[in-house]
Amino acid sequence: MLDKEIESLIEKELERQNSGIELIASENYPSKEVMKAQGSILTAKYAEGYPGKRYYGGCEIVDQVEGLAISRAKEVFGAEYANVQPHSGSQANFAAYRALLPGGGRILSLDLNDGGHLTHGSPVSFSSHLYSFSHYALGNDGRLAYDSIRKAIDENKPDLLLAGFSAYPFEIDFAKLKEICDEQGAKTGKPLLFMVDMAHIAGLVAAREHMSPLPYADVVTSTTHKTLRGPRGGLILSRRLDLARKLDSAVFPYSQGGPLEHVIAAKAVCFLEAMQPSFREYIKKVKENTLAACLTLKRLGAKTSGTENHLFLLNVLASYRLDGKEAQNLLESIGITTNKNMIHGDSLPPSRCSGLRIGFAAATTRGCTAENAVEIATVIDRALKGGGLAPLKEKVKSIVAGWKDISDL
Ligand SMILES: *Cc1c(COP(=O)(O)O)cnc(C)c1O
Repeated sequence: MLDKEIESLIEKELERQNSGIELIASENYPSKEVMKAQGSILTAKYAEGYPGKRYYGGCEIVDQVEGLAISRAKEVFGAEYANVQPHSGSQANFAAYRALLPGGGRILSLDLNDGGHLTHGSPVSFSSHLYSFSHYALGNDGRLAYDSIRKAIDENKPDLLLAGFSAYPFEIDFAKLKEICDEQGAKTGKPLLFMVDMAHIAGLVAAREHMSPLPYADVVTSTTHKTLRGPRGGLILSRRLDLARKLDSAVFPYSQGGPLEHVIAAKAVCFLEAMQPSFREYIKKVKENTLAACLTLKRLGAKTSGTENHLFLLNVLASYRLDGKEAQNLLESIGITTNKNMIHGDSLPPSRCSGLRIGFAAATTRGCTAENAVEIATVIDRALKGGGLAPLKEKVKSIVAGWKDISDL
């Protein structure tokens, strides 16, 4: 190998990932087959356009690759339309807004600090510069408060209601949100569009372990690399074929050039994997492990959000008198990776936060059992209570020793 530096850094990162417990809720490990497709020669092909309508010659094979990815995406999620070209979840959102709204269009979403995403109207994201955002608040219990969403719609008169979040531990009732949009449409005579960004829960939706937004939303966006276990990338779905042309042109040529056909091939592989019965078993285990860890922490006296999906929030300020950053660093020192996160009604700034976001999608991929999840929660509790770190580090090592190697999934 010519490039020893990068080779060695990749080896070091593999070793880091293999030796620790990954609890960042947005991360996961793809299968060998996904990795192989993503590392393939398809990366060498320019294919601007869409299958059958390319700007370049030589696209017969990549047309079939992208065609398979599209038809599998539609099958997994029950969609009429799929666009597999967005390079990331943020790119998918950029294109979806463009297709649905004029510049300055009004979007009602959940604030980033309450569990939304940067692209849902944060001042530092393109979204707030191109569209006019207002936000709905969560209830005191940290759950969606459907009545206050109704009120926020009345007050802010949005053109589009956006749901789907980055740090929300409960089920989302998409049917109810669609009903609220329809009520508003009937009242004002102007339809209220409904968009869902299911980036975090796509794997749960694919496995029928969360209500699907497809029957209710006008457009659904997603990532493919979180609970879905695919390559890093984005996805747009819809049951509305009348939006197909607008969505397609909002991705290419409006916001992207040549599609990443190697990544699209890897997406096709992950969609096929998500259709296997074993994937549903996997997602069920993710939920069981998340719940087991959350309940254990609660039993030990910690303040948690509770969970109905693949993640929960741990209030480390209330439970251990640490801020999120301190707690994240402490756990990292014993080989457990998490991320600091704002807690509903947080008193600390985003640079510190009062909480940690904890998820079990990645650990479960490596073979984490419910028993391990209880052990991990106990280790977290001891570490944050100020217990001696050396034995806890050893305990982390012994748990991980029973798991699969990441290059072998
Ligand atoms: C992760 C995430 C995204 C963005 O994904 P990127 O691929 O990092 O751009 C968008 N929306 C939500 C809700 C997410 O959680």
